[in-house]
Amino acid sequence: PVFDEFTPPKIPDLSTVKARLVWNENPHGPSKMAAEAFQKAVWDGNHYSWSTLNDLVEKIAVFEGVSPDQIMMGPGSSDLLEKTALVLFQDGGNVISADPSYMSLVSVAKAAGGSWKAIKLTDDYQHDLDAMEAAIDADTKLVYITNPNNPTATITNTEKLKDFCSRVSERVPVFVDEAYLELAPGGLEGSMAPLVAEGKNVFVTRTFSKIHGMAGLRMGYMLGHKDSLAAINEITRGGMGISGPTIAAASASMDDSEYLEMCKTKFDEARNYTMAFLDKKGITPMPSTTNFIIFPIEMEGDAFLEQIYERKVVVRAFKFWDQNWCRVSLGTMEEMKHFTDAIDEILV
Ligand code: PLP
Repeated sequence: PVFDEFTPPKIPDLSTVKARLVWNENPHGPSKMAAEAFQKAVWDGNHYSWSTLNDLVEKIAVFEGVSPDQIMMGPGSSDLLEKTALVLFQDGGNVISADPSYMSLVSVAKAAGGSWKAIKLTDDYQHDLDAMEAAIDADTKLVYITNPNNPTATITNTEKLKDFCSRVSERVPVFVDEAYLELAPGGLEGSMAPLVAEGKNVFVTRTFSKIHGMAGLRMGYMLGHKDSLAAINEITRGGMGISGPTIAAASASMDDSEYLEMCKTKFDEARNYTMAFLDKKGITPMPSTTNFIIFPIEMEGDAFLEQIYERKVVVRAFKFWDQNWCRVSLGTMEEMKHFTDAIDEILV
């Protein structure tokens, strides 16, 4: 059986929760500069925001080294993952992605009439690029790669991935979801964006929900071949769902390098603390290059969640590869201490 996200027990009232470690958010954001820009822009709320959105596209084009027609904007990257799936799979076909991986694009592809070819990660938790390439057939419309991957937090070798995208995109488009890449050791140096600049049929998505701490403000973008983006835009327009204040906040956040560095440092600190704790408990998590950690638990996911929710700590549980897992997002140090106290009581 392949990975399937299961429905967790009802999450307790979030206002009473001591540690909110469930959605891979950023507890340190948004940046003060972004919040101020957002508030100021509210007073332009009577106008459509096309001109400020175009300014942001120009800014992103410079940042990514691509041209503006290689960029599509959306209220979060989910919007772009889903739009791409809706357009590509309206006449069926299959999508190849890792088992387990982030399911939003795959779920929409399936709902639209497509099917999923799941390829298990390698023993060291990377995408099995050889097996993914071998799985391509006449019905394959897209290869989807999440790098770093969710829910495993693991990263695939940059050079191998670059070579794969470069070659395979001659046959079918390759979609690389880089939601967490800023948090990985080399940061955006490992991005596939340069392949888009070269004109390859590669999609890359980024989000402001993670390092920028703007999950509730909704902003993301997709880079891609200009013809592929035009084909998607023809059916479902990018950018229309984004609010003006969010555009102002995103632009300000891109300029606030001090804040972005601070977030990275704090995530490193929370990750090191949690890894050391798990190690002391004799638990071996997967290596993490993101703002979350996944580790095996020797009990059923729903029983585990019930116990940890009782302690006002919210996390996720998953089951794949015949193993139960807990995925904990990295919060503030105070939240991580609530988490480790809870684990100490539950997993003795
Ligand atoms: N891609 C991955 C791998 C994610 O984990 C998430 C959210 O957790 C998203 C995309 C969607 O994020 P958003 O729609 O907030 O940009």
